[in-house]
Amino acid sequence: MHHAAGSPPVWIFDLDNTLHNASAHLFPHINRAMTAYLVEHLQIPEAEADALRQHYWRRYGATMLGLMRHHQTCPRHFLWHTHQFPKLHEQVVWNPALRHVLRRLPGRKVIYSNAPKHYAEAVLARMGIRALFDQVIAVEHVRFYPKPAVRGFQHMLGLLGVSPSRCVMVDDDPFNLLTAKRIGVKTVWIAPQASHRPQWVDLRLQQVEQLARSVHRLAR
Ligand SMILES: [Mg+2]
Repeated sequence: MHHAAGSPPVWIFDLDNTLHNASAHLFPHINRAMTAYLVEHLQIPEAEADALRQHYWRRYGATMLGLMRHHQTCPRHFLWHTHQFPKLHEQVVWNPALRHVLRRLPGRKVIYSNAPKHYAEAVLARMGIRALFDQVIAVEHVRFYPKPAVRGFQHMLGLLGVSPSRCVMVDDDPFNLLTAKRIGVKTVWIAPQASHRPQWVDLRLQQVEQLARSVHRLAR
């Protein structure tokens, strides 16, 4: 695909723990809901369900994948019932300055999340930034191949209709960025604690809000 030199990139943003703090309230809530789902649908005690949830997460990178493989769980059913947030407005933690940073950032912006669409849309709406993104690509749009699976990335790029060389991915998970780098996408790692930078990371930032003034460091 031809594009003019110096044209702005396509920004591919992760959602959880990249644009907002999911660890504060949302991830614990989701973990509890997943354990409850396993108790109900596998008919096992809570301690066993919690251990199995973590086992599948470690082994497959997503509890959902273990359930699909070993229990024939319907991913849509699972994601719907484990992502219900009656108090979402109290649970999303973010920096209000983010909206201004994203607005100033030149180029098309999309969300690419391992979460289901209804959850991603609700979080973005709560933060007041939904309109800043062209597309929200959730796990059901990439045939339930969560990051860092390369097949998910291929579906995602097909949906965007752009070549990887035009894209920059922003994510808090370095292994998601490893897949991105391998297929030719530039990488920005959001890492509040890290003191190192893996070789496949083009730019490391403590907070996504630093992106606007650091973007020149991404050699194009
Ligand atoms: Mg994340």
